[in-house]
Amino acid sequence: MTDRTLEGKVAIVTGASRGIGRAIAERLAADGARVVITARSAEGAEGAAAGLPGAGHLGVSCDVTDAAAVDALIKRVEGDLGSLDILVNNAGITRDNIMVRLGDDDWDQVLDTNLKGAFLMVRAAARGMMKRRAGRIINITSIVGLTGNRGQVNYAASKAGLVGLTKSVAKELASRNVLCNAVAPGFIETDMTSELTDAARESLQEQIALGRLGAAEDVAGVVRFLAGADASYITGQVIVVDGGMVV
Ligand code: NAP
Repeated sequence: MTDRTLEGKVAIVTGASRGIGRAIAERLAADGARVVITARSAEGAEGAAAGLPGAGHLGVSCDVTDAAAVDALIKRVEGDLGSLDILVNNAGITRDNIMVRLGDDDWDQVLDTNLKGAFLMVRAAARGMMKRRAGRIINITSIVGLTGNRGQVNYAASKAGLVGLTKSVAKELASRNVLCNAVAPGFIETDMTSELTDAARESLQEQIALGRLGAAEDVAGVVRFLAGADASYITGQVIVVDGGMVV
């Protein structure tokens, strides 16, 4: 039987037109939430929202690096759907290169999307959540934010920054019953990892105790847990979902 315990809740999942975000949106919707899917592409967001189980979902174009668009999104969701209970900051990009070849733009775009984008979303969503004395914020960081990674100085820095943001927001908002946690996936099968060479994939699989890359649904299940009643005494935590790659 489907667990309907998110019935009546409204969730936003950023960057949910594909990949991990889409799997998270599908899981929250399957468990009863009304879900707002965002992405830069309106077509991508609307198409993904149309495929969600249940009714009342929305697909909205919103670039998380655009503060005015983010504020307008939160206003619209709170106005049209009456509330915002769950915010999942999932939108993220990579611009990989070895550090000495990393351009200023590679740094700025990754930090703006992965870290500043999450900050803008949290800042806009926090006011209403604090007023309502309820809210769940879940940030999708990465295992490389905890370990570092060659060729990903910008990405790892953005994801490590998200850990600091998560822990600080958790402390600031706890007295208003707004909980903030992060999920740190290892290597998950999505467009982001589809360009791995066979050799890179094999070498990765050898490092993963469970012997396989993860599925987006593996991450979605943990986000669902953090969004629900069973996680009401957890805040400021980073849950690693990496198949035992880093133990
Ligand atoms: P993906 O397949 O590349 O999807 C990224 C999503 O983010 C798309 O929906 C994209 O849609 C959206 N997006 C990108 N820039 C955006 C912006 N400025 N504003 C709004 N939306 C934006 O990525 P994924 O692999 O599912 O990764 C999702 C999250 O998990 C990311 O934060 C990533 O860093 C993290 N993660 C992934 C892995 C992995 O192995 N895949 C591991 C650890 C962590 P548009 O292009 O239309 O905007």
